Amino acid sequence: MNEDPLQIAHLQLEEAAEMMDLDDGLLDYLKTPDRVMQVKVPIRMDDGSIKVFTGYRSQHCGVRGPYKGGIRYHPDVTMEEVIALSMWMTWKCAVVDIPYGGGKGGVACNPKEMSSGELERLTRRYTSAILPLISPDRDIPAPDVYTNPQIMAWIMDTYSIFQGYSVPGIVTGKPVELGGSKGRISSTGRGVAITAREAAKKIGVRLNNARVVIQGFGNVGYYAAKILSEWGAKIIAVSDSRGGIYRAEGLTVDKVLEHKVKTGSVVGFNGTKEISNEELLELECEVLIPAALENVITKKNADNINARIVAEGANGPTTPDADRILDDKCELVLPDILANSGGVVVSYFEWVQDLNRYFWDEERVNQELERIMVKSFNEVLEVKRELGKEATWRAATMTLALKRVVEAFELRGLWP
Ligand code: GLU
Repeated sequence: MNEDPLQIAHLQLEEAAEMMDLDDGLLDYLKTPDRVMQVKVPIRMDDGSIKVFTGYRSQHCGVRGPYKGGIRYHPDVTMEEVIALSMWMTWKCAVVDIPYGGGKGGVACNPKEMSSGELERLTRRYTSAILPLISPDRDIPAPDVYTNPQIMAWIMDTYSIFQGYSVPGIVTGKPVELGGSKGRISSTGRGVAITAREAAKKIGVRLNNARVVIQGFGNVGYYAAKILSEWGAKIIAVSDSRGGIYRAEGLTVDKVLEHKVKTGSVVGFNGTKEISNEELLELECEVLIPAALENVITKKNADNINARIVAEGANGPTTPDADRILDDKCELVLPDILANSGGVVVSYFEWVQDLNRYFWDEERVNQELERIMVKSFNEVLEVKRELGKEATWRAATMTLALKRVVEAFELRGLWP
């Protein structure tokens, strides 16, 4: 099976389209992005040399509103990957019914090897290169893999300099001091935790002492772990790119974070057994949360997954040929476009607050997030019930999203 993300995105779309009996022309329309921009990003490195990076911004489908989606900095970023990720954003925004289309950007670089000054120059130059595509009404970037609130602050500043006044609504995931939303930093992990909790309730699993395994201990994995453990779950294993740690009695999440901050990895944390990322995925547990990168659950290991619920914190962690196996193995699979949508939901709140110049307290943010996540989870359940066993959880979720996108398309009509 090919693990090319664009091919995977197409397969997922085709499966849902078939279920809905979607018109072939409409399917073609949705397979291609509205536009993609490739840009040259030359910057001065700290040693005085010039280095040229390549960046992209893809705008997949704008029928439901402005394009929305993160920017990732990663050595493996390609145009195809960015297009696929922008497609997933279209579905994600539709699943949670927020008024956006899908966008995504990326720069092929290794931020772990770059200084803060180099990252700032890269961000500013990339922002200036995609200026013709972005605006608070047109396309609103956000953080993604290896980008963070500081990088969003530089994007906001660069855009504002060109406009001649401050435009906080150009980007979400900013620091709170610059018009960011309270609760945005924890929102993706919180959304994962809420959907996992609802799934547990649905299949009759008590969250108290439920065993949770999390791959990835970045922003998403950490907050999912923290919030689920606050709700009584037992986090028995976590990992990062260097490997994983296991403790049957459960981990104290904040202590693991302290260790990671100090040493650069979760590995070596006191009183834990070291395990590989592959072993971690196969641990017996109630909830498994892949919250790292793409293509970690494949045809090779799907059959060994030993979780009752899988909640996809990462984008695209499961390959299509693993989907069916996973669906048969697990009682409930929460696909990425539902499970990790809490981030873009609070991005939406942030944008609304920026446009209104009126800011909410964290309690309101979390309450409204809770409401949208629970509602969306129930809507997916309803579609899954209608479609029956034949549809995987992903296909059911995709069908809900696709219906909403097609409705908007049909109401607007095709110009000219
Ligand atoms: N990058 C995140 C995602 O994949 C957040 C996007 C956003 O907030 O616009 O959902």
